[in-house]
Amino acid sequence: MSFQATFYGGAGEVGRSCIFVDSGERNLLLDAGIKLGNKIEYPLIPEGDIGKIQNIAITHAHLDHCGYLPALFSKSISRQRVYATKPTRDLMGILFADYFKVQTMRGEKPAFGENDIKAVMQGIRIEEPDKEFNAGFPARFINSGHILGSMMVRFSHENRSVLYTGDLSMRNTRIMDGAARGVPADTLITENTYGGVTDDLPGAKESMMRFIDSIDSTLKDGGFVLVPSFAVGRAQEILLALDDYMRSGALSRAPIYIDGMIMKAMRIYRQNVIYASESIKMRILTSDDDPFKSRFFHVPRTKDRSDVMKEPAIIITTSGMLLGGPSQTYLEKLCSDPKNKLIIVGYQAKDTPGRRILEGERKVHMGGKVLDIRMKVENIRISGHADRGELIQFIKGVPGLKKIFLVHGENGGVLKDAFEKDYEVCVPALGETHNL
Ligand SMILES: [Zn+2]
Ligand SMILES: [Zn+2]
Repeated sequence: MSFQATFYGGAGEVGRSCIFVDSGERNLLLDAGIKLGNKIEYPLIPEGDIGKIQNIAITHAHLDHCGYLPALFSKSISRQRVYATKPTRDLMGILFADYFKVQTMRGEKPAFGENDIKAVMQGIRIEEPDKEFNAGFPARFINSGHILGSMMVRFSHENRSVLYTGDLSMRNTRIMDGAARGVPADTLITENTYGGVTDDLPGAKESMMRFIDSIDSTLKDGGFVLVPSFAVGRAQEILLALDDYMRSGALSRAPIYIDGMIMKAMRIYRQNVIYASESIKMRILTSDDDPFKSRFFHVPRTKDRSDVMKEPAIIITTSGMLLGGPSQTYLEKLCSDPKNKLIIVGYQAKDTPGRRILEGERKVHMGGKVLDIRMKVENIRISGHADRGELIQFIKGVPGLKKIFLVHGENGGVLKDAFEKDYEVCVPALGETHNL
């Protein structure tokens, strides 16, 4: 019997993760993402095949893994069954609404309507981690450590078992326990965002210390600090860290403004804290002060953000790649003063304003204006992904492993060389079908 996977997205790239697993009779779509950048790119599923999809499992609430769901629903008559954890479902609700709003605001034609968002949200079947469910194949969600509710998917067909990682993080953070290890599988489909040799990250603590020191020196100079961030994941980790350091006195006191969708995501994190690490649950259970509701956190009260500009502050806001949203408004206000600082913490796609500034451009075209960037610019990577060393450890720790597919990365070839001796390794190209 055939048991195959077609890589409709996320092959040789970071973005639009979407893998179609098919046994002939039954099928399962792993993730349905979009690729964000100056223009949005969709998975390459042929229109005619969309109606054939029976089951969809979503690993986590980032648009590069779930942003295509509403469009998929708008195109399909037979509504597929969608499986996700509760935090993923809740977080997707705000992501889709915001994505719809931003597209409409930018004058782009959204690929779906508000009714499709409703249909997706109502249709999602909530599954708990570590419990078997029927996703066409017997399947299980297993913690992937990346953001709240993020999961790997393990499923099997006849004698063959497959583990798909989604996005992986091995480290224990303030909010998350690192990914589960030692899950047996014959075949592994793994992300390798930082699989390239040059990409070993500095330790998480070291990066965070650099980040805090950098913010502190700017505050002491009387400047503002702008940190563009994705709404879900790093933003919450960063906010809890800022609260910790400010409480302890290691970081100068200043208002921390939370703008864009980050506060909404923060509330969903708090409501679903049962899915977070043991340590944060203990902290909330055993003390009165709730780190998600720190006294240092503020939300802007005015539409033009003039209230934020009154005294030096830290501003954490969307969009993470400076593609519109409040981060652009703040950049306009802050960019001309060398006392201020922009700190880039996340992945910046090609051709985005964030990437161009990182590459040294200082006259940046944005929303019909030319911004003269005279503020300081710093790049401190605070990653939600396993680095090369951690990936290698993770892969070696999969009992029974025979075959590896490397996806969700631009340098799959590098990791391939490291494993070719011991395993069958494949770096699939977009649109290719392979036996699992
Ligand atoms: Zn992710
Ligand atoms: Zn991803």
